[in-house]
Amino acid sequence: MDYKQIIKEMTLEEKFHYLTGADMNAGYKLERFPIERMRYHDGPFGLKMKVKDNSRKEMMEKKVRSAFPNAVKGDEVPSTAFPTGCAMGATWDEELIQKVGNALGEEYHAYGINAILGPAMNIKRHPLCGRNFEYFSEDPYLTGKLGSAYVKGVQEKGVSACPKHFAANNQETGRHDVCSEVDERTLREIYYRPFEMVVKETKPWAMMCAYNRLNGVYASEHKQLLQDILRDEWGFDGIIISDWGSVKNRAYSLLASIEMCMPYQEEAFGQLQEAYSEGIIDDQTVDAALERLFLFYDRTKTVYEESSCDFIQHHEIAVEAARKSMVLLKNEGHILPLDKEKLHKLLVVGEGAVKPYIGGDGSSRVENMTQVDIPLEELRKLLGEQVCIEFMGEDKVNAYKNTIGQMETELVEKAAAADAVIVFVNGNFASHSEAVDRNNIEIEPNMEHAIKACARVSKKIIVVLNVGGAVSTYKWDFCAAGILVSWLGGQGMGKAIAETLCGINNPSGKLPETFPKRLEDVESLKNFPGDRHKVVYKEQLMVGYRHFDTNHIQPDYEFGFGLSYSEFEYSDLTLEGDELTFVLANTSEVDGDEVVQVYVEFSETSWTSHPKQELKAFQRVFVPAGMSVRVGIELTEEAFAFYNTGLKKWTVEEGVYRIKVGSSSRKHVLCVEKEVKSNDFITNEGQFV
Ligand code: BGC
Repeated sequence: MDYKQIIKEMTLEEKFHYLTGADMNAGYKLERFPIERMRYHDGPFGLKMKVKDNSRKEMMEKKVRSAFPNAVKGDEVPSTAFPTGCAMGATWDEELIQKVGNALGEEYHAYGINAILGPAMNIKRHPLCGRNFEYFSEDPYLTGKLGSAYVKGVQEKGVSACPKHFAANNQETGRHDVCSEVDERTLREIYYRPFEMVVKETKPWAMMCAYNRLNGVYASEHKQLLQDILRDEWGFDGIIISDWGSVKNRAYSLLASIEMCMPYQEEAFGQLQEAYSEGIIDDQTVDAALERLFLFYDRTKTVYEESSCDFIQHHEIAVEAARKSMVLLKNEGHILPLDKEKLHKLLVVGEGAVKPYIGGDGSSRVENMTQVDIPLEELRKLLGEQVCIEFMGEDKVNAYKNTIGQMETELVEKAAAADAVIVFVNGNFASHSEAVDRNNIEIEPNMEHAIKACARVSKKIIVVLNVGGAVSTYKWDFCAAGILVSWLGGQGMGKAIAETLCGINNPSGKLPETFPKRLEDVESLKNFPGDRHKVVYKEQLMVGYRHFDTNHIQPDYEFGFGLSYSEFEYSDLTLEGDELTFVLANTSEVDGDEVVQVYVEFSETSWTSHPKQELKAFQRVFVPAGMSVRVGIELTEEAFAFYNTGLKKWTVEEGVYRIKVGSSSRKHVLCVEKEVKSNDFITNEGQFV
């Protein structure tokens, strides 16, 4: 199709309409041209769409019902709910996230949707941010890698991904207007970095701007951010979609290079007309935006053709992703996996066992899942009839709160009689939600009390944390022999939890965020969430483990931590050129995956201040029981670079850098030093050459 010709033939009125949505999720329909309407839907973990808006609904419902006869009917189309960002982050598995992206892409394609509104790639600046469950990590590198894998997966299926929310959108308090005040180096190294990586590595066809202001300018009108940096510097050639309702004046957002203002906004048309008549915007600006919209249309046009989609396979991918996201924090006396032979009576406590939180609240909440696996049912299936499982749910546990009463007596009696107790903790739903920040990182008092009550009579307590982000554990940790984090793990989480508890799945997830003891230990707390108008990122680079490690603060569980049922040994590290190699042995009798992590310490002679260490590479490696593999990881110049604000570029300083390899940010088993030459002008004496 000759899009240039269409632009020529379009009236100015049509052009202005075309630059803004027509309703909540659809673009404007150009009736005079053979162009279909474009659709943009949440995301990021499964399709959210009203049945009435979908022309393929009957065919799709039939497909779902043939796979899942009990799938519920509702206002929303049925779709698969994949694990949320926090769980995907815990997998540290690019290949898997690409596969999840493929499955999402297939579903969106089958429903005829042009773009999924995801991945959500903001940094978890503070554990209280209500949307942290949507984000991958506190670390920009991990976020950038997983975000890129997601985008690749989705776009391979002909659907556009739309990384969001660009940029410095790290809290929900005052989310529509708050001004994030961030210095340039911090922006470049922490908050822009994942977006820069995703643009350069996988070229998303769309990107969503943020609601907030950044250093005084709304992100939706921020020309320097969207045009100068995103497009001109990084080479982004897709469309920029506004966050829903973030555009204040359509003309200024167009000047900042936002092609699609969402959703429908009555005043947008008039704002464009006025700005055009005053010469603020001209034909060239309007037509350039249309050209990019038509390029996007062209890139996603196969969604108008019917395609197949295997809902059973997608459910299996959801289970697989949940499995790999399980993080085992504690396993004293090898309480896990449960030994079926020795287990006769099991007590399961907490509503999460029957009503798991598979996602958080807000725009990412999938409403009509094809199926939800229930942890208690899955446990019953795996343990069989010879294990008697007693369940105490909400009515029982909630009833006594902090008082010693009838229910507590019952709970304690049952715990004493059981061979093991599993407590499902799923906090409260409001703590994982768009539009509100959390107010603490504690688990609910009734659950803490239940754990402590059981601990008076049992040493065999396992806690499952069905949470969307960091929680503090030190107040009750000593009562539990086992702690497993299952996150908000999507519709397959129940099965993955049961399989992990029973040893069918060997846990291999690692924390993508620090679990602090106390909120006060988090540096950004001093400046979170700011006052009504602004939030100053005074902690600069000291986000997450960067702060804990630099300032020697002990968290409950560190970034990158996670146990396995296997035992791994690292040895024989060598560095030749850019190639780091070492041997990883699985010395146990269980096959397992290890996520190996590489951290770099900057040179001690550096003229610039840096965090103690930064994650620069990682790899998930499968090692069969009793075997070893040689792992190779490439560490290019980028691993030694920092953003030099004087030179306005990524720069490598000359010096000796320490490269550390291990299983978490604090368990470095191997270490090697590398003498690095400057990539630029700076010598060790700080002089230009
Ligand atoms: C959220 C976006 C979401 C959009 C559409 C906004 O409020 O910030 O993440 O994609 O709504 O639902």
